[in-house]
Amino acid sequence: MKIHEYQGKEILREFGVPTPRGEACFSVDEAVAAATKLGGKVWVVKAQIHAGGRGKGGGVKVAKSLDEVRQFAGQILGMHLITHQTGPEGQVVRRLLIEEGAQIAKELYVGMVVDRVSQRVALLASSEGGMEIEEVAKHNPEKIHTVRIDPVTGLEAAEASRVARAIGVPDAANAEAVQILQGLYRAFVEKDAMLAEINPLVITADNHAIALDAKFNFDSNALYRRPEIVAMRDLDEEDPAEIEASKFDLAYIQLDGNIGCLVNGAGLAMATMDIIKLYGGSPANFLDVGGGANKEKVTEAFKLMLKNPNLKAILVNIFGGIMKCDVIAEGVVAAAREVSLKVPLVVRLEGTNVELGKKILAESGLPIISGNDMADAAQKVVAAAGGQK
Ligand code: GDP
Ligand code: MN
Repeated sequence: MKIHEYQGKEILREFGVPTPRGEACFSVDEAVAAATKLGGKVWVVKAQIHAGGRGKGGGVKVAKSLDEVRQFAGQILGMHLITHQTGPEGQVVRRLLIEEGAQIAKELYVGMVVDRVSQRVALLASSEGGMEIEEVAKHNPEKIHTVRIDPVTGLEAAEASRVARAIGVPDAANAEAVQILQGLYRAFVEKDAMLAEINPLVITADNHAIALDAKFNFDSNALYRRPEIVAMRDLDEEDPAEIEASKFDLAYIQLDGNIGCLVNGAGLAMATMDIIKLYGGSPANFLDVGGGANKEKVTEAFKLMLKNPNLKAILVNIFGGIMKCDVIAEGVVAAAREVSLKVPLVVRLEGTNVELGKKILAESGLPIISGNDMADAAQKVVAAAGGQK
């Protein structure tokens, strides 16, 4: 689960990380009032959306007067902000962050992720802040310093200090940088984050280190014990189909193809998408209905897929292990009837009671195309969706 920058900064402050003073706003008048209250001569008007690259897309503007705050807030609120993370249609800006301006001498990068290989939290740090870390990783990998943090000791001050020096934090700001790195690590662990990033971490003209941006992504499997994080959820920023799916405990990700996939098990779902691609088709979604797929879940899954205007055909690919194929077949038939399915449906079943399952599909009177195996089913659904692209 993602949150906004201003919420991320609230968390950082809780863990002793210095950030610019600022306020979240929902209207132009609120933005001007916030700037007036903050005082000073320079403010930054920042679009709050769950995507990075806002600066390049025109969503971050430095204002040198209250009139400019009004002007920029008016421009940014309501705009379709397009960044490399939003897709071509962009994301509508509904919230702003108004902050006091900072005098930037240096922009650095620090971030933390879960490193699955070492089973530790990895700290990534670079002198190349402000730009995408993926670009630095590609062109200047030697400029990224990585530390895999021992969960027993946590991030030790000496280690943090060494990293700060390595990325060019001046000695005068070293103690602050250590505090920032340790605070970021504690926030990461104590809030069950999967990703926490300060990009840029800036060194100001008077040698202070502050977090100018904040990005968090939280582990959804831990949200049950983090109500304060759930309270920060902004549904306007999430895909409506994915919100609907989460209500029914379905793992659903919308994609840009035209073949709907309904599969049990994430591995089989990935393999199904791969084989559709192999035969020249393109999946409209990833959908894992899980192990206990009953009629209700299958029906909701069909409804979700059918909301997609690009949908041309559906492939149901189920392995009946714990679930029996006849139960699944009954679920598919009932769901297809309930939603009065108009697009071609290819079903491939394998596993317990598979013959009985196929019989139920064949006798349902519905125009269901039976797939004998994955390759056969994939070829049939690609043809049903209008052939190779
Ligand atoms: P992102 O593009 O979505 O990652 O948004 P950021 O919050 O990182 O802002 C993008 C860029 O705007 C930063 O890298 C800075 O160069 C600039 N910026 C942000 N805040 C300030 C500020 O207070 N003063 C100045 N001069 N520039 C700022
Ligand atoms: Mn940034």
